[in-house]
Amino acid sequence: MNAGTVAFAGSALDRADHVRSDPDALAQLMNGSARLLRLQGLDPVISDEGTLEWGSLAEADPASEILFLGLDGKRGCFAQVPPSLMGSMAPPRSRSWQAMTMLGVSDLATYGGARSLVDWHARHRFCAVCGSPTKIAKGGWQRTCAGDDCSAEHFPRVDPVTIMLVEHEGNVLLGRQPRFPPKNYSALAGFVEPGESIEEAVARETLEEAGVRVRDVSYVVSQPWPFPSSLMMGCHAYADDPAITVDETELEDARWFSRDDVADAIVASDKGEAGRSFQAPPRVAVANFLMRWWLNRS
Ligand SMILES: [Zn+2]
Repeated sequence: MNAGTVAFAGSALDRADHVRSDPDALAQLMNGSARLLRLQGLDPVISDEGTLEWGSLAEADPASEILFLGLDGKRGCFAQVPPSLMGSMAPPRSRSWQAMTMLGVSDLATYGGARSLVDWHARHRFCAVCGSPTKIAKGGWQRTCAGDDCSAEHFPRVDPVTIMLVEHEGNVLLGRQPRFPPKNYSALAGFVEPGESIEEAVARETLEEAGVRVRDVSYVVSQPWPFPSSLMMGCHAYADDPAITVDETELEDARWFSRDDVADAIVASDKGEAGRSFQAPPRVAVANFLMRWWLNRS
């Protein structure tokens, strides 16, 4: 079984950082051959061929902010923050997010990055230091406070989240939240807190959610998850004591699953079905990647 790639990583666009801070170079790229990513709200517009749809900058709302996504060869690729989105709160996850998985690897990653960036601009109209309006800078990779005595610089945020497969004698610990579809179990996960390493976050979350102590935390893989701006950091750890105490404010259930259970669920998930003992998360989720990685490893 191949672990495959993680979704939302692998964009073919050149981020061209040197262009962002060069207003003349940026202006030159905003020409007739430049491409504007078509979005409906924050959802992608997907062609019949299953690719992202792009238009020209002439389609942009004159009152919108234009974000530089990167270069496709010599062409500049952009997205817009239209006035209708400014100051609005995005839904935590688009209703049509599963349609996005029709996109190829690069398109899905390009869309995910654009979605996070557009959403950040929509929700960061004012300075967190002084409350003055902020204005777009560096092609959209910064906002700068317009307040006279402030000029604070604000950068698009990325929120680190640990997600971990904890192993005990060939079984792995998976849990389900009340909002999950029936039979669905996934790896435990939680945000990293200030003053905490990745390893400490893995240990704390596993103890909090399932009452299980872990050791030997190791990093496996990461995934940008643009709902709205998480960076999932996939880890593996071992437990010595399998006794589980579920924190019912976070989880409905947590239990150990055997290698056969996981292998069966992963094979079934490729057909969009539930396995005998549980339903694995979809392939787009890094938890699915972690399970494949673990099956290959053990
Ligand atoms: Zn300010």
